[in-house]
Amino acid sequence: VGATNGHAIGIDLGGTKILAGVVTREGEILRRHERPTPIDSQAGLLEAVEVAVTELLDDSVSAIGFGIPAPIDQKRGRVFLATNIPLTDFDLRDRMRERFGVAIGLDNDANAATIAEWRAGAARGATDVVMLTLGTGVGGGVIANGAPFRGGGGAGVELGHVVLIADGPPCQGTCTGRGHLEALASGHAATLAAQAAFGPDVDAHELVRLADAGDAQAQEILQRIGALLGSGLASFANIFNPQLLVIGGGFGVAAWDHLIPAADRVLRRDALIPARNEVKVVPAELGTAAGLIGAAFVAYEALDAAL
Ligand SMILES: [Zn+2]
Repeated sequence: VGATNGHAIGIDLGGTKILAGVVTREGEILRRHERPTPIDSQAGLLEAVEVAVTELLDDSVSAIGFGIPAPIDQKRGRVFLATNIPLTDFDLRDRMRERFGVAIGLDNDANAATIAEWRAGAARGATDVVMLTLGTGVGGGVIANGAPFRGGGGAGVELGHVVLIADGPPCQGTCTGRGHLEALASGHAATLAAQAAFGPDVDAHELVRLADAGDAQAQEILQRIGALLGSGLASFANIFNPQLLVIGGGFGVAAWDHLIPAADRVLRRDALIPARNEVKVVPAELGTAAGLIGAAFVAYEALDAAL
């Protein structure tokens, strides 16, 4: 098997699970492997990554790609500061290349998910796409002019950390910012709003369940979050003039019926012509596999760049 027609392993390094798979250039998963993410130490995490790769590695594999919850230094192949796994200022690309002897690609996990939806999911065939993954946090990715857009040094695009409300509520994890989209329109934000309204035992899942069951207060909370999401979407539509705005992530999918009508109203008010009339909001299609499929596409990108 030559380097150009081999397969890639994609690794989605999540906060709770490492999702890995052998993926074709068409985005089909041939084999997969899943294990819990060790979060106590970097050494333990890297050991688990090695086990996951070794489980899948064979002669057909020419490249390995990683989707990581962190900004990436694409020039040096380093991870800056991961939010919920123990990986900080680490030269992952060189280490993995030395260990496995194949081409290595790295990307932010939300960038990887966006690439997967663009190549093999909801945004197939589009040239300009903005995707948001609404989970506990908010990840974002951009396809611009038919290629992944990663900003100057490759550490973009952190769409969850755009400012919606100056000096607004504090962001999460290692982010010191305030009023960011992630602090206002994430599953975590929904949990905080639900607890303020219904007490400490109610989280985002329960809030969505209440809204689905017709609870007017729960519906109103989700609609308010949806309107804030719409402000973000309108801004991204104005910047990138995408054909599609793709919404994924566990919270985004579960709360879709409550969030999106409210988001769409604000989007159609705040986006300029032509974006306001043309852009479509669509759900992601690949679910939890998007990260590992996208990581494999990032691996193919690294492989092709090396040839
Ligand atoms: Zn932030």
